[in-house]
Amino acid sequence: MDFDAITNFIKKTFHTETFLPLHEPRFIGNEKNYLNECIDSTFVSSVGPFVDRFEKEFATYVGSKYAVATVNGTAALHISLLLAGVEQGNEVITQPLTFIATANAISYIGAKPVFVDVDRDTMGLSPESLKTFLETHCNIVDNRCINTTTQKVIKACVPMHTFGHPCRIDEIKVLCDQWHITLVEDAAESLGSTYKERHTGTFGILGAFSFNGNKIITSGGGGVIVTDNEQLAARAKHLTTTAKTPHRWEYVHDEIGYNYRLPNINAALLCAQMETLDLFLENKRLLTNEYGSFFDTTPINHVREPINARSNYWLQTLILNNKDEQEAFLAYTNDHGVMTRPIWRLMNKLEMFKECQCSDLSNALWLEERVVNIPSGVRL
Ligand SMILES: *Cc1c(COP(=O)(O)O)cnc(C)c1O
Repeated sequence: MDFDAITNFIKKTFHTETFLPLHEPRFIGNEKNYLNECIDSTFVSSVGPFVDRFEKEFATYVGSKYAVATVNGTAALHISLLLAGVEQGNEVITQPLTFIATANAISYIGAKPVFVDVDRDTMGLSPESLKTFLETHCNIVDNRCINTTTQKVIKACVPMHTFGHPCRIDEIKVLCDQWHITLVEDAAESLGSTYKERHTGTFGILGAFSFNGNKIITSGGGGVIVTDNEQLAARAKHLTTTAKTPHRWEYVHDEIGYNYRLPNINAALLCAQMETLDLFLENKRLLTNEYGSFFDTTPINHVREPINARSNYWLQTLILNNKDEQEAFLAYTNDHGVMTRPIWRLMNKLEMFKECQCSDLSNALWLEERVVNIPSGVRL
């Protein structure tokens, strides 16, 4: 494998000879105007017009009825799982190939993740693996899905759209409905990605997005919950704002809430980022085409959007031939000024989750040894 040619090609693509990061934020629109406006108004904290404006614009963009902005994507997932009815002692099915936040959010409630395999092409939760797991290990008792191995209730399922490539979410939804499992989507990586022309994050009862600094658009830190259910949206807003009952001066809280509301100053940044999102998406598609024509002349597999899906191409992905090649590639590129990184270590291998129940994970294990991300930022 000619790592030198690949490294040079990537540098040429980004017109740079200096260190090339994996994914940098871009602020090319109204960011500074809106931040100034926000500072001048003194409303920099959890109440303010930019939060409301962002929520409206975001809901419209993804085609959901409601959006509730949060301090980060992990908080959005945590509240979504609470609203899905997940309780301490429940189990939640997810994929082992994900960022730690998915498994952490499940754990914050005192629930346990159960890991089922992913598909090789989407890198997201596999409907076949889910079906096999449910048929082998679960029974429906009183309209609840019971794991016959642990006797616990499987309350929710959280698929994740890896690197912005939509998983087969409609098939997953059918299975969840059949088995009385609530579908919550971790769409943290997939803003701008659609499956069968419907935006990711809107198939489940709730969906969570992230605006961390490395995501496709950013508010420094931030997240959002989307839903079509009015009650759930109201509950999401209540729980993320310390469960304070509305009153002009009294401080009364009617349950244990969270300080998870997105500050107005972050929302100001985010309103400007939303205006450039479509430009970023186009730009990333151009990069995909350039990478694609190059890697198609090599023995390396450059991952494209799955069928029925339009990907945001958040992170560009290569599948190498084996673990040795993966390690050699990471060492060579990082030594030569091109930042690359391997896909996450599987969740079930981490200390905190190694006791968790797993299905056969052959695809996740296969991908773990081969997948790398290469520079994917917007070139402007
Ligand atoms: C980024 C991300 C999150 C949320 O991360 P925050 O940093 O809390 O915004 C959740 N799940 C996945 C898969 C992610 O990539």
